[in-house]
Amino acid sequence: MSEHTLHFKPAEGFRARSKAVVDNPFLRQSFRGAMDFLMSKRAAQFPDAGELASLRTLGESIRQYNLAKLPTLLEQLEANLTRNGIQVHWAETPEEANAIILGICQRIGTELMVKGKSMVSEEIELNHAAEAAGVAALESDMGEYIVQLADEKPSHIIMPAIHKTKEEIARLFADKVEGVDYTDNVDALIQIGRNVLRQKFLEADIGLSGVNFAVAETGTLCLVENEGNGRMCTTAPPVHIAITGIEKIVEKLEHIPPLLSLLTRSATGQNISTYFNMISSPRKPGEKDGPAEVHLVLLDNGRSQAYADEQLRKTLQCIRCGACMNHCPVYTRIGGHAYGTTYPGPIGKIISPHMLGLDATSSMATASSLCGACGEVCPVKIPIPELLMRLREEAFTAPHANPSMLGQGAGYSWLMTSVWKGWAAVYRSPALYAVATWLGSRFAWLMPAKQGAWTSVRVPLKPAPKRLRDMLKDRG
Ligand code: SF4
Repeated sequence: MSEHTLHFKPAEGFRARSKAVVDNPFLRQSFRGAMDFLMSKRAAQFPDAGELASLRTLGESIRQYNLAKLPTLLEQLEANLTRNGIQVHWAETPEEANAIILGICQRIGTELMVKGKSMVSEEIELNHAAEAAGVAALESDMGEYIVQLADEKPSHIIMPAIHKTKEEIARLFADKVEGVDYTDNVDALIQIGRNVLRQKFLEADIGLSGVNFAVAETGTLCLVENEGNGRMCTTAPPVHIAITGIEKIVEKLEHIPPLLSLLTRSATGQNISTYFNMISSPRKPGEKDGPAEVHLVLLDNGRSQAYADEQLRKTLQCIRCGACMNHCPVYTRIGGHAYGTTYPGPIGKIISPHMLGLDATSSMATASSLCGACGEVCPVKIPIPELLMRLREEAFTAPHANPSMLGQGAGYSWLMTSVWKGWAAVYRSPALYAVATWLGSRFAWLMPAKQGAWTSVRVPLKPAPKRLRDMLKDRG
């Protein structure tokens, strides 16, 4: 397992960032409103609980079936894509993925790449790497374009700029887009974005996109989107580069309709997205449009680590709908930026440790009330609370010589482990428990008033002056 040198560091300041949002009533209110809206849209899409239950079971089975065959399917996908004329590249780390993409930029001598929405490109921090190599990577999804103008990361995997009000966006456009006056008319703002981007689609030599599903039997890349910018990125520039994680694969085309239905209904509360693109080859002789070259970059970045463990493999079932985030009581209060990771919320808590290591992300798994809402809404039935418990265990058990997870045991403390072991021994023995509670009630006055982090938000722990068993004895 390798350590990465990403620009964006997640762990430091998680508490401070969360507190800053919780202390900001305006931000909390706007986030709450946005999440309530998304939750009600999803609920309206699933009026029949029976249909939802059977569709979720089908979605889970399809994802598990394909993950079980993943190594074979990856080989089949590569063979069929290659036969179709699509060039396949394998990247183990973000650095390798960036090197592949920037190598293509260098070969064709481009200085401009337009990007459709791709969380994997966020994961590898492609924009930073491209900028360092002298290539401008321009986001063309409206939400991504807004956060790029603001020099921020997306705060939600489906709605990148959901933390911004229309007034903030209006100010941003007026400040950063040349020749634009302040307007908070939403239609006018969208038109401004369109005007800027349309010209760039024509100027760019490379269009980069994500992939929602890669079909092994046909060698087809499927892209779900609403704005049409994905179609522009994948057809207008002469070179199209798609990037995706190795888990986004299905064996058959017939696996897609149930997953697509679950994805759009869970994500944005839409029956179906406005666009569904299927890319199976570069432009063929006689065809009038389409790119001359198509590449697919398949990224591992810790996914093999999750895959190797039967329980943690369930993380890879994710279809990136974002429903777990919209329903999470923690995410809806602190928003996406507090996490500091590319993927925030419940999905971020279970996938980020594989990408960044438990040492950088151990606080994420503990920032959960384990209410179970995420697991209940997940369209492919990922048992998120169960996986959070497992990650907590991995972070706080003594590190092994051959750890199965990057950063395993990062939160381990000899003192804390000894205290809990002692506590468990006392609880297992009635005699020891009687002695311990007797001592506790006699020497309660010795308990300090300040008890570290505990008393920063709670009253001090103090044993009762009389034990329960003594009170019961007194009552006869
Ligand atoms: S974990 Fe489930 S609910 Fe969350 S983004 Fe993935 S598929 Fe959607």
